[in-house]
Amino acid sequence: MQCEGCGQGLHDVAVDWVLRQVHDLPPLRLWVSEHQVEEKRCPCCGVLNQATFPSEVNSVVQYGSGITGLMVYLMVGQLLPSMRVCDLLRDVVGCELSEETLYNAYPL
Ligand SMILES: [Zn+2]
Repeated sequence: MQCEGCGQGLHDVAVDWVLRQVHDLPPLRLWVSEHQVEEKRCPCCGVLNQATFPSEVNSVVQYGSGITGLMVYLMVGQLLPSMRVCDLLRDVVGCELSEETLYNAYPL
């Protein structure tokens, strides 16, 4: 790994870890995948250098495509009221989410 600021080699620099998580839907329960990348501060120029997360992981905590697809299916495909979708996901999947999260998953 090299510093993005000046090209300094960072092999001997201590690693700090930055975490991001994906919450997605397994067969019956919510499945959480955690992604970790290396982060190092260059001792030469002070620039903080961080490896890249997968492109679809863009928040510290987020919902994945499986459960987001289920939210949209229940609201748009099955025409369930948002409160009932929240109830169903809490009761069946163990996922506590707000109605606002539902509307953010599929802006109507
Ligand atoms: Zn540097």
